[in-house]
Amino acid sequence: MDDKEDRNAVVRGPYSGKSISARIEAFFLDNLGKIATREQIIEVAADPITRRVPENWHQRLSELRTDKGYTILSWRNRGHLKQSEYMMPNAERRQTSTPRKRPTAKTWKQVLSNYDNRCAWTESGVRCSLKNGDIDPIGGGTVKLTPDHKTPHSLHPDVDPTDSTKWQPLCGRHQVMKKNYWDDDEGWLNVVAIVQAASEEQKREVYSFLKQYFGDRHAQETEQERPELHPR
Ligand SMILES: [Zn+2]
Repeated sequence: MDDKEDRNAVVRGPYSGKSISARIEAFFLDNLGKIATREQIIEVAADPITRRVPENWHQRLSELRTDKGYTILSWRNRGHLKQSEYMMPNAERRQTSTPRKRPTAKTWKQVLSNYDNRCAWTESGVRCSLKNGDIDPIGGGTVKLTPDHKTPHSLHPDVDPTDSTKWQPLCGRHQVMKKNYWDDDEGWLNVVAIVQAASEEQKREVYSFLKQYFGDRHAQETEQERPELHPR
């Protein structure tokens, strides 16, 4: 049976788009609803002439979601996908946010100096601290800090480009993460995206909270049936 083969993406190509994201986009549009592998994405992301593999292909993939509004599923949000598998279910695009305003050149300089020329993202009390020209140890690629308005765009559409206290520098990976966290149109936190990015331990915490919240009878019954798991 070819049932399984039908679900797998095929690199048709040649994808000669100028940018990495254009080539990845063309590949996914060729394979709607099909399972694409990390290897295939790297293959199409590679420079069509030099065949050099870009180190930041993963960031470009994220930007197809955040900047172009495509849905690209991964094992993180779809159980039937294995690790390193991705799927674009359809060609629909969510409306993405309006182009962000930027601080003036002078303000941006001040913002960078306020943050010691380092990424301001802080998680569990730990600052990212990557600076321009660093190699991102997690996302790969060379770090380029860009301005981020601290509060969501939609809540404060009239961003003051000369007020340095309203801005912070973020590395590319954390710009993407923040865009994933905030629904820019409504100014609400994207709770699902946050839980998806959370650690295993945090996910367990959320899970047990939800079980309690919904009064998961199955979980309670299981506990009663197997008292040996909870020695007194
Ligand atoms: Zn960062």
